[in-house]
Amino acid sequence: MANVIQRPTIAIVGGGVGGTVLANLLARQLDEDEARLVLIDQSGHHLYQPGWLYLPFNGQDPEHLERSERSLLRHRIDLYVSRVEQVDVETRSLRLADPTGVGPTERLHYDYLVFASGARIAPEEVPGLPEALAQGSAHQFYTQEGAERLRQALHAFHDGHIAVAIGGIPYKCPPAPLEFTFLLEAYLRKRGLRERTKLTYYSPLPRAFTIESVSELAAPLLAERGIESRIFFNVTEIDHQKRLLRSLEGEEDRYDLLVIVPPHRGALIAEQSGLADAQGWLPTDRATLEVKGQEGIFALGDVTDLPVSKSGSAAHFEAAVVAERLSAAIRMRTVNPREGCYDGRVMCFMETGYAQATRIEFDYEHPPVPPKPGWFYHLEKMLFNKAYWYLVPPARV
Ligand SMILES: Cc1cc2nc3c(=O)[nH]c(=O)nc-3n(C[C@H](O)[C@H](O)[C@H](O)COP(=O)(O)OP(=O)(O)OC[C@H]3O[C@@H](n4cnc5c(N)ncnc54)[C@H](O)[C@@H]3O)c2cc1C
Repeated sequence: MANVIQRPTIAIVGGGVGGTVLANLLARQLDEDEARLVLIDQSGHHLYQPGWLYLPFNGQDPEHLERSERSLLRHRIDLYVSRVEQVDVETRSLRLADPTGVGPTERLHYDYLVFASGARIAPEEVPGLPEALAQGSAHQFYTQEGAERLRQALHAFHDGHIAVAIGGIPYKCPPAPLEFTFLLEAYLRKRGLRERTKLTYYSPLPRAFTIESVSELAAPLLAERGIESRIFFNVTEIDHQKRLLRSLEGEEDRYDLLVIVPPHRGALIAEQSGLADAQGWLPTDRATLEVKGQEGIFALGDVTDLPVSKSGSAAHFEAAVVAERLSAAIRMRTVNPREGCYDGRVMCFMETGYAQATRIEFDYEHPPVPPKPGWFYHLEKMLFNKAYWYLVPPARV
């Protein structure tokens, strides 16, 4: 009994990809009397965000994109469905909001803390964007609700100029706006609207994509399909009344329908903890995943400031590293350097339309060499989308 009382508490903030995989890995690696495992998630629902890409084209059933977090966690993990309001690193405690909003807040002590709280979208950072989104001239697919509204807007669209733009870097899933553009082009063609639609892809970078090899693959595809590509276009403002997109570079373009990736920031709790940078990203050691200067505090997934894609795959690989480090700390053994050091690994697919895709795989040292798009990679991605619930959250892969 004494052992149970004294066992250290590992608190994980966030039940997305990273937090859920980590909790389940720890539940497998550590005995129940070695550590108490606590996961706090503000919604209690686990969302499969990659599915939002397909919603505007009726390519996914929204019901398949959400599961209760409890159903994905091993029994011994204590789940709190509550928002962490405050992190006090001095007293090693968290303040949890009362889910009903009327009761008292709760304090939770931790010995080890992991931020897996993800990123948030911040449309308010582009003047005019909140108004354009409310008006319905601009849309985004970075929330389920947004993706569903976009589906209605595309359904009602008949002709004109569709602009696909990026509101700021970094953002989740870097290939997503390119994938969306390719899928949109194929969708318009299928509906017989392609000849009546001007389609433009705006990139804030000097090329279509951050990574050169991916850009070299995407740029000819855009050109081949008659999609205009505008590089060095950093969106600074939207005039929702005149439907104008303005850039830092002094350009101005009129659109009929704007699809924009809103600017992203780290989850508010990271900002409020006082540990994050001005954009809400946590300064994170690129190998150990410890929050810099904070012993016993780790970060993984979108909330980090690591120079890798904000992606579910990065969060997944990082969870294994944090699990090894925490297991070693609890068992007072040395860290296995092969398992306990993140090498920057990311693996994702990029849809290129017409039931084809490519695969993007890289790490800190090795840039990706994406293969020629083909049906095989598209099929792989479709299978992964279906198998996600059985493979990833339970940490079976
Ligand atoms: C349209 C789209 C397409 C994508 N496609 C891909 C893809 O093909 N491949 C890929 O690898 N990735 C893709 N991603 C990215 C991927 O979904 C994210 O990178 C991934 O979900 C990040 O995992 P995470 O655990 O860091 O954060 P999340 O999964 O976002 O989870 C964070 C959790 O923390 C909770 N939380 C936040 N603050 C608090 C608080 N204060 N208290 C309690 N809980 C809190 C949130 O509610 C949430 O449940 C895509 C994303 C989008 C939007």
